[in-house]
Amino acid sequence: MITVSIDGPAGSGKSTTARLVAQKLKCLYIDTGAMYRAVTFRVLSLGVNPHDEKTLVEVVRNSDIKFVNKKGELAILLNKKDVTKEIRSVRVTQHVSLISSYRGVREHLVALQREMAENSNIVCEGRDIGTVVFPNADIKVYLDCSIEERAKRRLLDLQRAHVRKTLEELKEDIRKRDTMDSEREFSPLRIPDGAEIIDTANITIQEQVERVLDLIYSLEDI
Ligand code: C5P
Repeated sequence: MITVSIDGPAGSGKSTTARLVAQKLKCLYIDTGAMYRAVTFRVLSLGVNPHDEKTLVEVVRNSDIKFVNKKGELAILLNKKDVTKEIRSVRVTQHVSLISSYRGVREHLVALQREMAENSNIVCEGRDIGTVVFPNADIKVYLDCSIEERAKRRLLDLQRAHVRKTLEELKEDIRKRDTMDSEREFSPLRIPDGAEIIDTANITIQEQVERVLDLIYSLEDI
């Protein structure tokens, strides 16, 4: 079994890289950010106060989360309903770092991630994959990139979705999320021991994918 972990801050290119690497290797792709987003969506939809940790952890424990393949694309089901689009909303993005910081939320989702990975070759991406979820991953990658470049990419994504935000606003959003994700008490974003650091600012997605594939192909038993 091969386990590949990809960590990094918001907008560093993790999802696209992980998805394409998993496609190439024909293995399971686990987007853990989508799981944190799905439970955030559920908490907000139920009108639970995001600071009410006890109630919120209970909601998360009772949420059913599954990934399914829909016409070749990864979709996420929350209590059997497809919420792939809803979890990308500005509101979810604004609250996800707070909700992900609670220990009970993390414990539940990490257990689920390990269960999903049982008996499968996987490419898993997030913030704590090589440090906490799969510390024995065969290949660990950390994608990094300047805030400026990450904000520019996010601006393009949002313009395509007709959401109006300025580059400055996006830089501020990303800075806030980076700070919360790397300064939280439980499983903060860190470069995992033994990770290959790839700066994605000046390379294409194809080059990122090739760098990760080269690392995987260098493993002796693949
Ligand atoms: O990857 P994405 O930007 O969709 O992740 C959304 C948020 O989910 C992150 O900003 C972080 O707060 C949280 N997250 C996390 N641990 C992970 C993946 C995501 O705390 N493994």
